[in-house]
Amino acid sequence: MFEGLSIDAKSARALESAVQSGRLSHAVLLEGGDAETRLAAAKELARAIVCTGEEKPCGHCRACKKAQSGNHPDIHLLQKDEKSAFIKVDAVRALKEQAMLLPNDGEYSAFIVREAQFMNVQAQNALLKILEEPARHVHFLLTAESKAALLETIRSRVTDFDLGQSGALPQTQEGQAGEEAAAAVLRGLCADEFELLCACAVFQKDKALLQQALPAMELILRDALLCGSAAQPMTGETALALQLHRTLTPQKLLRLREKCGELLAAVRANANQNLTATALSALFYEIKERED
Ligand SMILES: [Zn+2]
Repeated sequence: MFEGLSIDAKSARALESAVQSGRLSHAVLLEGGDAETRLAAAKELARAIVCTGEEKPCGHCRACKKAQSGNHPDIHLLQKDEKSAFIKVDAVRALKEQAMLLPNDGEYSAFIVREAQFMNVQAQNALLKILEEPARHVHFLLTAESKAALLETIRSRVTDFDLGQSGALPQTQEGQAGEEAAAAVLRGLCADEFELLCACAVFQKDKALLQQALPAMELILRDALLCGSAAQPMTGETALALQLHRTLTPQKLLRLREKCGELLAAVRANANQNLTATALSALFYEIKERED
């Protein structure tokens, strides 16, 4: 199994032995390594789950051949669509309905949730309900940068395997003003409402800056969520990420990431609409203060 994939040898052996002994958990999380490797490993596991041969995946049974051509009816893939920032709850509900049906071909079906950290809070809660009472024939294979990016309740339901060191994205010089403004907003958020309002004021007449700052905020919030995990930070704001990690719960960090994605889409769609500094800071502050 996993030939040609650069994944941690210990994790590969553990997964292979779970598969061959028929003891693979019904909810597996593959974390670490790079995103393509995680997906390839999840697909290999899905093939092994549907394979009817001896040494799984055998590569020559009918199920393996269908899986290799990407046409196995019992291997499903849930992923973020290109237009949205998140995997939304509707997609998870659709998956739930599919997961309740018996497999078309064989004994088992496999559901891959690609980069599960893109599920928003609602979607994660919906998935949790499925993971709590999984049907006997269903296997869930989640991939994620790190389990630290998922809600604790999801983490407690999955058996996780670390595929290796995550690769950090190369730093770019572009949009440095946006990065600085993003950091100022998040520092303000950690401090108080007045600091936050002051930091938001720069966007009032500069929507281009806001368009640069929102993705930068999302990355810093991601680093905050992943603090203490093996994942490499994607921004230079490690001290700020740690401060956010200590100040805000994972749920709040997730909601803030979600809000950044929503605001970015809104700003792009209504290029003429001005978002006031007061409205912007109120949106963030509300998330900080709201009960989980
Ligand atoms: Zn096979």
